[in-house]
Amino acid sequence: MSTRIPEGVLELVDGLYLVTGYPCDPRPVPDYSGASVYLARGRGKECILVDSGFRRFTDSIVDLLDQMGVTASDVKMVVYTHGHGDHAESCEYFRRQGATTAIHEAARNAGDWGRSPVRADRFFRDGDVLEAAGLKLQAYHTPGHTPDSSCFLLDMAGSRVLFAGDLAGWYFPGRESDYGQMVASVEKVRKLGADLICGGHWLCGGDVDAYWDKLAKSLGEGIFSLVDRFNATEHCELTAKRFQARQRSRVCHPEDPS
Ligand SMILES: [Zn+2]
Repeated sequence: MSTRIPEGVLELVDGLYLVTGYPCDPRPVPDYSGASVYLARGRGKECILVDSGFRRFTDSIVDLLDQMGVTASDVKMVVYTHGHGDHAESCEYFRRQGATTAIHEAARNAGDWGRSPVRADRFFRDGDVLEAAGLKLQAYHTPGHTPDSSCFLLDMAGSRVLFAGDLAGWYFPGRESDYGQMVASVEKVRKLGADLICGGHWLCGGDVDAYWDKLAKSLGEGIFSLVDRFNATEHCELTAKRFQARQRSRVCHPEDPS
């Protein structure tokens, strides 16, 4: 199905889009606080979202989906990488439109951390497969940024896509982050061999191994984010462009092992 791609939305691979919060924020960015929202198209018009953003951005996100020919009721499932407001505050809206909302079971206690609990339909565990719209996501519990942080692996149009949330950024010492867990979670997901890492505020679609190495090193040095969130928009645009060019050249030259 061909999809019109409105300004502000990035196509990552066939059927997978970064419907980010940035079109909703005034630019230049005095307050870049929106997390990335990803849309994966599945069966027919049905689709899933990975994270759905702040409540105050919901109208803008819904408008972008509308321009892509997707209504809120086509969203069959929203999976959350964790319950922070910039990722999950709009949960209730999509739930009311009929989407199944899913988050790791550790989010049941999210109220203990000074934020509202996410009202999810499903609390999953490590290793669970989440299915909707003809798509299957493998869930991995990856605590560190928060106790309920999770990653999801999806095979999409020949690419192995890892939704990583805020693993790799950001570490909040003294709040709900746990340094040891973060290091262990990075080691856990780097073994999955993803081609494209879709983060909560960043993308990595080039040399993924080099990225994990850099991240492991920076964690060892006590630096907890490789991403300057104020440049997140430019970073995502550039990475998406490079990744698509790389995938295209793979398709054109399948014998090329690089
Ligand atoms: Zn977060």
